[in-house]
Amino acid sequence: MTQKLLNPHADVVTLTAQLIDIPSVSGNEAQIADLVEAELSACSWLTVERLNNNVIARTNLGRDSRVIIAGHLDTVPVANNDKAVFLSAGQQLPVEGSTLSEDVLFGLGGCDMKGGVAVALRAAVTIQEPVFDVTYIFYECEEIESTRNGLTKIAAQKPEWLAADIAILLEPSNANIEAGCQGTMRAEIRTSGIRAHSARAWMGKNAIHELAEALKLLSEYKSLSVEIDGLEYREGLNAVAISGGVAGNIIPDEGLLEVNFRYAPNRSAAEAENFVKEFFKNYEVTVLDNVAGALPGLDRPALQSLIKMVDGKVAPKFGWTDVARFSAMGVPAVNMGPGNPAVAHARHEHVPLAQLISCEELVLSWLRG
Ligand SMILES: [Zn+2]
Repeated sequence: MTQKLLNPHADVVTLTAQLIDIPSVSGNEAQIADLVEAELSACSWLTVERLNNNVIARTNLGRDSRVIIAGHLDTVPVANNDKAVFLSAGQQLPVEGSTLSEDVLFGLGGCDMKGGVAVALRAAVTIQEPVFDVTYIFYECEEIESTRNGLTKIAAQKPEWLAADIAILLEPSNANIEAGCQGTMRAEIRTSGIRAHSARAWMGKNAIHELAEALKLLSEYKSLSVEIDGLEYREGLNAVAISGGVAGNIIPDEGLLEVNFRYAPNRSAAEAENFVKEFFKNYEVTVLDNVAGALPGLDRPALQSLIKMVDGKVAPKFGWTDVARFSAMGVPAVNMGPGNPAVAHARHEHVPLAQLISCEELVLSWLRG
């Protein structure tokens, strides 16, 4: 008898290893989605739907509240050009597949976020009568452009599948609850000057020098810390790239400064844009992209019971995640999943076994009530 590639009735560590062993780089999630769909379809208490390589499974118990438990099935590409990583026993870490070493599980996607997917699958196949109705979402293409993101497609084609009171996204957060997320905006500051030979600089106007005032404003700016629902969100306004110059003997006629504004979720995208334009009011500012953050939404009862189980420990999320996508659809969302986000996408990506186990325990007992 051949062994099953995916067995959600195995323990959470084995299941995570199985998920890592099924390659699923963004755009190639058909196999993993087929296997996940087959396992969910075998559960009589779930209604299973499929849209592209997105698999949605729902309980329909008529509960007062519905929660979404979501995870993306895709990973970033294999890091086979990076330098070799050696484990403690001197063994070289394989580029593909899972490797168990002492108390951690290595492998592409282990942290981001097959550990979280394993927890969601364990809950879906184990808990027949959760205290809330649950919508489990396993989706494609999170690691690439937003137009291909599975949640974007579901929102456009089947928005009713995303109706819920709250969403838990099992993205790596060291198994802590991280609520809300900051917005992010990139803008370009452009200066113009007059070209001249640098031997006769007085005949020109140096566009790079024109950026000096903008840089001074940035280095002197004290970013705000904003408190929302008892959480502190620290903003940041920073130069992230600078360019200009024609040749070693020419006064440049153009300067470009790119800035990134990470802003607290109480600012809308439009407010963030106004702030940056006002901040650089003497300059020509072009917004390159801008997505609002997500408010933490910690007042929802279903979330309250989860927070109580972790003794009220909630932290703000600093990066931008799909939590904001749920928030934009009116569903407050939090991140909570196994793994340290700092090793996501790294050659030595791994997840601690203890976090897989504790996160599974927490989610299962929360759903059992
Ligand atoms: Zn992720």
